[in-house]
Amino acid sequence: MAFMLHGLAVSGGIAIGHAYLVSHATLEVAHYTLPPRRVDDEVGRLGKAFDTVRGELSELRSGLFADGPDARSELLAFVDLHSMILDDPMLLDEAGEYIRSRRCNAEWAIKVQMDRLVEQFEEIDDAYLRSRSADVVQVVERVLKALAGKSRRLSARRRDTDSIIVAHDLSPADTIQFKAQRIAAFVTDLGGATSHTAIVARSLAIPALVGAHHARTLIRDEDLLIVDGTRGVLIVNPDQQLLDEYRLRAREIEIERSKLRHLTRTESTTLDGESVQLFANIELPQDVEQVKEVDADGIGLFRTEFLFLNRDLLPDEDEQFEAYRSVVQAMKGKPVTLRTLDIGADKALRGAERSEANPALGLRAIRYCLAEPRMFVTQLRAILRAAHYGKVRILLPMVAFQHEIESALAMIALAKQQLRDANRKFDERVEIGAMVEIPAAAMALGTLTNQFDFLSIGTNDLIQYTLAIDRADEAVAHLYDPLHPAVLRLVQQVIAQGKRAGMPVAVCGEMAGEPQFARLLLGMGLRQFSMHPSQLLEVKREVLRCDCGDIAPRVQKLLRSDDPVRIREQLDRINAGSAVQP
Ligand code: PEP
Ligand code: MG
Repeated sequence: MAFMLHGLAVSGGIAIGHAYLVSHATLEVAHYTLPPRRVDDEVGRLGKAFDTVRGELSELRSGLFADGPDARSELLAFVDLHSMILDDPMLLDEAGEYIRSRRCNAEWAIKVQMDRLVEQFEEIDDAYLRSRSADVVQVVERVLKALAGKSRRLSARRRDTDSIIVAHDLSPADTIQFKAQRIAAFVTDLGGATSHTAIVARSLAIPALVGAHHARTLIRDEDLLIVDGTRGVLIVNPDQQLLDEYRLRAREIEIERSKLRHLTRTESTTLDGESVQLFANIELPQDVEQVKEVDADGIGLFRTEFLFLNRDLLPDEDEQFEAYRSVVQAMKGKPVTLRTLDIGADKALRGAERSEANPALGLRAIRYCLAEPRMFVTQLRAILRAAHYGKVRILLPMVAFQHEIESALAMIALAKQQLRDANRKFDERVEIGAMVEIPAAAMALGTLTNQFDFLSIGTNDLIQYTLAIDRADEAVAHLYDPLHPAVLRLVQQVIAQGKRAGMPVAVCGEMAGEPQFARLLLGMGLRQFSMHPSQLLEVKREVLRCDCGDIAPRVQKLLRSDDPVRIREQLDRINAGSAVQP
């Protein structure tokens, strides 16, 4: 039966395809039905995965003996516990039974057994024993890895290109894996419009919907789905008429996109001759291809932390250097802004997931880096070395305190000294910038303008912290409002004060990539935008249609209003002129 669900539209376009259900974010498990003839093989596949894990654990055990007695006692107990769990008949035997009775895949069966075991653990009174449920999860993760061949990955299926991922939740680390796979769209029950998961979706340039509430429970594997990522609508098992309508709409969108491609080589200059720089945001080195396709003026934000996700061993200096250099060389002298690690909150390193009460307010970004100086200085050395091959700028995330700035600048000086001592080539004069994403930094901007070479406003976090809205939480997503007068005044203040201090100011949050805000930001005086490459040409079209001289006083008037309804009305009037073709 056909039905419709609504969610937050986070990445535009229309996708038509089949549902591919994945389970909880930490254990991305597909669920599909097997033909009867494949059931025995599947049980065998699960048995083999158990053998692999048994082998891994026994290797670990022998390694411990080689390391001497000190290493033994605690770790040995841990390895033995994992071996015991692995041999618990509730796992292998019952999962095998489950595969036979349900004709489901091995990953799903083992996940179901894990949930049952965890439930039993959680009923135990003894707190220590109860906490051992985490070991059950770890053992099952090992089995899942073995089933996948090596690392945790969504298993590729026959019809990857029309698969629509449906998940309860996806972490940014989960989502980034889709870059290597060709999927049509994704839908999650949880998540906010500027969560990192949504941002990665946008960079994949596939339609996506988050905050769809019960999608994961209502949809079955292989259901036919239409995802309208522009309107935030999901249609399950549509009838023929709806399908035809959406196919037509999808073709129209493709035609609009190909028209936009004609703007690629057009200078981005307003009607009254103001030159505007349009930079790109990237998460991984391979994204640079998309950046070149739209001929961006450079990279305004490289979220380097994505290189650190989904792996057990972190990239060392040389690996990072190679990754950064590849981007710098590909950009052929255009600026590449490398943001130093913004680890923490929703982007935790594997195995380091913390259970802080308020992770977005906790040890994140520059705070994390200063708490992990070795990791930070290693990254800085890699960046400075890559800077030898082109134009690199260092961008520090979430700075707000004078002592943080001093420590971060001291670390950069230290990294340079270490490179000098080692006779390494690097760029001594790399520009250093700060992200303005904490209201305190925006309000006391002098601290930043005195000590940095450029500023970049991270509106995603600036809005989150100004309005006290967790950007990843769909329960408060309706309150996340870039047009709140407090947000607009902060953004305007930073642009104006930066200008007075002769300091380049960019916006690199999602606000910069939304065509509906382009005139507003231009009217505030912004001349540098950084966004996902997939949004760049649409924003360029707005720039080409805008007359800054005409817009600026109207934007100033809008900024004086405290009434959200009037602000929206005034913005609509300002944007109404953009219906005219350039
Ligand atoms: C921002 O906060 O606006 C930003 C660009 O950084 P991120 O989205 O990675 O937190
Ligand atoms: Mg941010």
